Amino acid sequence: MNTIADNLKQIQAELPQGVRLVAVSKFHPQEAIEEAYRAGQRIFGESKVQEMTAKYENLPKDIEWHFIGHLQTNKIKYMIPYVAMIHGIDSYKLLVEINKQAAKINRTICCLLQIHVAQEETKFGFTPEECKSMLADEDWKSLDHIQICGLMGMASNTDNTEQIIKEFRLLHNLFLEIREKWFAHSSSFKELSMGMSHDYHEAIAEGSTLVRVGSKIFGERNYN
Ligand SMILES: *Cc1c(COP(=O)(O)O)cnc(C)c1O
Repeated sequence: MNTIADNLKQIQAELPQGVRLVAVSKFHPQEAIEEAYRAGQRIFGESKVQEMTAKYENLPKDIEWHFIGHLQTNKIKYMIPYVAMIHGIDSYKLLVEINKQAAKINRTICCLLQIHVAQEETKFGFTPEECKSMLADEDWKSLDHIQICGLMGMASNTDNTEQIIKEFRLLHNLFLEIREKWFAHSSSFKELSMGMSHDYHEAIAEGSTLVRVGSKIFGERNYN
């Protein structure tokens, strides 16, 4: 059986320059993260604030923690002291709350706007229109303690590669459009977080800068 280190090495070898790997360690024990850490991995993704905070407290402090789950406003404050990037922003209200908590300790948090492009109705995120209308309002510009660093999305959970490519391409085009319209003078809007274990090759081909890979590194989870 492949070890975590083997899996990491294989995936790292496939990443073009400019694409970073978020190792999604949700529901896996600290030992698994330590093994990946010893193999050189420094960016880890988690989907529950409590779980991520417990791991943060026990693990090396040069780990970059990315929150990739669905966010509840009352949990935000626990990760503000250490989180490096929050991927799943799907409402203006969340930006306001992150900004408020980050202001208290004078941090600026990198946030990615989650866009709903998949066919499943259950996936979270702004529609492209909702996202653009939020940006057009420009209220977000007064939030000094958040930085909108890019977009995040998930393709449909399907074997239809054409469909997956179509959705990633839509995300990339939206990324380019938004960057040109609202971030032309800012170098911080540069991340496109897309691609998971089963579709990261397609995501990279369509312009991903951050792939979020879990089961292909750590094996199957018991939960999602
Ligand atoms: C769990 C999860 C992943 C990783 O999924 P794998 O299929 O295990 O690679 C990536 N992104 C998000 C948002 C997730 O919730």
